[in-house]
Amino acid sequence: MQYPAPISKLIDGFMKLPGIGPKTASRLAFYVLNMKEDDVLDFAKALVNAKRDLTHCSSCFYITDQDPCVICDDSHRNRSVICVVEDSKDVMAMEKMQEYNGLYHVLHGAISPMDGVGPEDIHIPELIKRLQDDTVQEVILASNPSIEGEATAMYLSRMIKPTGIRVTRLAHGLPVGGDLEYADEVTLSRAVEGRREL
Ligand SMILES: [Zn+2]
Repeated sequence: MQYPAPISKLIDGFMKLPGIGPKTASRLAFYVLNMKEDDVLDFAKALVNAKRDLTHCSSCFYITDQDPCVICDDSHRNRSVICVVEDSKDVMAMEKMQEYNGLYHVLHGAISPMDGVGPEDIHIPELIKRLQDDTVQEVILASNPSIEGEATAMYLSRMIKPTGIRVTRLAHGLPVGGDLEYADEVTLSRAVEGRREL
């Protein structure tokens, strides 16, 4: 039994999302069919607008609908500290903690020789460039506690330390192999407080 093409297409669309298999996809597709037309239109518009209106901040590469992003644009932020993370979602995790008041730099990945990802493939050159004016006094390396995240932290530490800028790494206590974004606020807050010199 084949579904009519519009439903199959909708199911295929949902299946492209992470963690959604054929069963969940068809459940969601049929749910959408039963939604009010206005709600469906709003949802569809939200998808298209998010993709169209969002870009990356030209300074920190955080996802944003304005450039520079709200964080870089905030004059109350401490510009002498930059927290380096792998992903925009990690910025959200740090912000939820409400204790960090510095700036960010989103790498959009981590160094992974196995996957052919080198320093030039993520936003490392831009970070090094940002450090060239004298405002930054500390770089907190908050890449994930995974093999790639550690390799990235080691590389950055080697690059930055000779400039005399303080380089710290989030303390252990974060689950190894885990993602920063899944750390609870208390764990993350302790990890920042207990960050160690590299
Ligand atoms: Zn920014």
